Amino acid sequence: MTKRWRHAAAARCGWIAEKIGTVHLINADLHSHSNVSDGTLPPEVLAQRAAANGVEVWALTDHDELGGQARARAAALAAGMDHLTGVEISVSFAGETVHIVGLGFDEGNTALHEGLAATRAGRLQRAHEMAAGLAKVGIGGAFEGALKYVGNPDLISRTHFARFLVDTGVCTDTHAVFRRYLTQGHPGYVPHQWARLSDAVRWISGAGGIAVIAHPARYRFSPTAEYALITEFMAHGGRGIEVMTGSHGVADQIKYADIALEFGLLASRGSDFHSPTESRCDLGSLPDLPGRLTPVWQALEHRITRAANTAAA
Ligand code: AMP
Ligand code: MN
Ligand code: MN
Ligand code: MN
Repeated sequence: MTKRWRHAAAARCGWIAEKIGTVHLINADLHSHSNVSDGTLPPEVLAQRAAANGVEVWALTDHDELGGQARARAAALAAGMDHLTGVEISVSFAGETVHIVGLGFDEGNTALHEGLAATRAGRLQRAHEMAAGLAKVGIGGAFEGALKYVGNPDLISRTHFARFLVDTGVCTDTHAVFRRYLTQGHPGYVPHQWARLSDAVRWISGAGGIAVIAHPARYRFSPTAEYALITEFMAHGGRGIEVMTGSHGVADQIKYADIALEFGLLASRGSDFHSPTESRCDLGSLPDLPGRLTPVWQALEHRITRAANTAAA
């Protein structure tokens, strides 16, 4: 992708790159989902799309699952991109679900695998309860309906229910489904206990990776609770925060760039791409990180598998 194209894409995602002075020009996309979790594309197709959009360092970060990692790395290298391992772990903190992205870990690590398996357990039961809630408002067959969209039933998520409700004409898009049915106070919402923050951070760092707070602006925290999240996360060994993500507007990008500096956190950049028709931000199309921040990929140099080295070998 040309620099000019990237500036246009950056503007579309809500940021004029010229306003922030110097920038890190590596096109890293360190947050994305395949159909191994709740994305719609296989890891191989995702890798090709990322490379076509100019991504230079890529991580697939499926929810609570490493099943797509080997395929993602092979596809990334074949497409000429450098590769980092990735995962997005669901955590419960202060009454809210928080997502912690792990990057650059050893994907064979046993404690990480066991922790993720424990985090996945319970998704099926929750899905049955969600379907029961939807049945009460006249939407029948939602469990079986959602299951048709799932590659791995252990990873059945609200996104699969949202796709079912769009395809059956209940809502026109997945965002409307979340608003009307799948968030707190609505009929298909079932509270769930995910992993502990301390455990998720420990699994990632114990496997040699770096833990990153995903899309921080999405949580409905008071300033006090947000401060608690960041300080506890760091006390457990967490080191990074997403500044450029598909779910941040310009004000969020500025706020979390300042927070990264204030707390000495590494900054990350990732589209959180799930699907060509559902995602607002495409792979590799986010604004660059402001130059005053330290990108998380700089601290992970030694964990990156380089496409160039692979081609030469
Ligand atoms: P779950 O892990 O089953 O609770 O599902 C969470 C997933 O739902 C997230 O990873 C997003 O992909 C998706 N999601 C959450 N909120 C929304 C929203 N408002 N609109 C569209 N997708 C959403
Ligand atoms: Mn998702
Ligand atoms: Mn997330
Ligand atoms: Mn995500």
